[in-house]
Amino acid sequence: MKKITSTFIEEIKQNQLAFFKEHKANGVEIRIQHLKKLKKVLEQKEEAIFDALYQDLKKPVFESFTSELLMVQKELDLIIKNLKEWAAPKRVSGSLINFPSRDYILSEPYGAVLLISPWNYPFQLAMIPFIGAIAAGNTAVIKPSESAPHTAQIIEAIISEVFPSKWAQVIQGDVNVGAALLKTQWDYIFYTGSTAVGKIVAKAAAEFLTPTTLELGGKSPCIVDGTAPIQKTARRIIWGKFLNCGQTCIAPDYVLVKKEHKNELVAAMIQEIEKAFGKEAQLSKDYGRIIHQKHFEKLVQDLNKQTLLYGGDKNKEDLFFGPTLVDEPELDSSLLMDEIFGPILPILSYNTEADLDLVLTKLKNPLAFYIFSSQKKFINALVQRYAFGGGVINDSIIHFTNDKLPFGGVGNSGMGAYHGKYSYDVFTHAKPVVKRSFWFDLPQRYAPYPKSLKSLKFLLKKL
Ligand code: NAD
Repeated sequence: MKKITSTFIEEIKQNQLAFFKEHKANGVEIRIQHLKKLKKVLEQKEEAIFDALYQDLKKPVFESFTSELLMVQKELDLIIKNLKEWAAPKRVSGSLINFPSRDYILSEPYGAVLLISPWNYPFQLAMIPFIGAIAAGNTAVIKPSESAPHTAQIIEAIISEVFPSKWAQVIQGDVNVGAALLKTQWDYIFYTGSTAVGKIVAKAAAEFLTPTTLELGGKSPCIVDGTAPIQKTARRIIWGKFLNCGQTCIAPDYVLVKKEHKNELVAAMIQEIEKAFGKEAQLSKDYGRIIHQKHFEKLVQDLNKQTLLYGGDKNKEDLFFGPTLVDEPELDSSLLMDEIFGPILPILSYNTEADLDLVLTKLKNPLAFYIFSSQKKFINALVQRYAFGGGVINDSIIHFTNDKLPFGGVGNSGMGAYHGKYSYDVFTHAKPVVKRSFWFDLPQRYAPYPKSLKSLKFLLKKL
């Protein structure tokens, strides 16, 4: 692999900027042509993509298709269909104060975009932002995660088959390469990963006042008041939690259940785990693995001194960590201080809304927020009271799949949002332009100003 130096990075960026300035990346037709070609190459390489995801994460093909490739294909279809309309200048009515004028908004690409992505959904979390950046008329450098090297390799193969490197290029590498990339001045940075590294990215971007989107993690609660069907509640929480072996940014991180329903919910959850993965999840073809030893060790540490309600079985060689339920961990334990990002689900109980508020206030600004309830008043109060990236009532994860909904965090869980039209918007600057005519001028706007404001006030308030 080529050694990635700062000079090499700067060269790539300069080449991309030159390409951008020649307007080569900006013609809508040429963008659509390339996105169509990308779609074709994705179809041709489907098997290789599934294979890479299996090698990196032991992802079942079903999950690789539904939560990785299909999402990318749907995004491509939507963008190819709508790009001409989204990219067209938007006329808006002029302000009467400026009469006569033609006012419009241009959506202007930023230029050279840097995309840094994580390992948990290593294909779609690199490709969906990439498609948005290209559709919007930018050039792009993608740095995929070094922890999913087979997927990084297939992403590089795909991008280099469709795009010249002066338009889009993959730079593989570890944290050092990421850090070197941040030393260069980009026109936009789109980062997906942990909150800790998100802060490093934000600091580096501040140096050049580069606009950024930060898609981070967080502690997403599942609140269960016991008024919704318990078995279905359990099934939907278990599905969202153990998908990709709990390594999903919007996975339920912990459960907060009304005390009198706790036992019933836990029993239902155990049933649902065994229905999905059998009594020995290690033998299930539908159960993934932990990404690497370091993360495995972190999860082992998380269980230190905890009381288990279920699971806890693991195998380090195989990176297998079974579905695990933990009983009432302390608020200051690592399980509740940091994002878990693995197949451990703490079950906390509450009696009053004040108990609930204590936890939700401490673990504020989650990326996702899940409420299982049939009580409209309770649901509305929670939705209004707490800030979160996105929410679902009576299910988990699924808001992610609707491209009409913006996907992103707030506060600790990030800033900015994408998916569908939001992906186009995030990678363009809305540039307003007012074109004035010379045939009329409000004489009062020029000095010497009128002595009395009376008639002017009347006029300006009407306009
Ligand atoms: P990470 O922050 O360790 O790494 C993400 C990317 O950043 C990788 O490509 C890595 O090489 C790079 N990186 C790491 N240190 C860097 C540095 N100092 N400078 C520049 N680049 C650096 O995250 P991860 O472990 O790959 O992913 C897990 C985290 O990502 C979890 O917190 C999860 O919640 C979050 N996540 C968020 C979303 C979302 O959409 N909001 C999606 C997936 C994952």
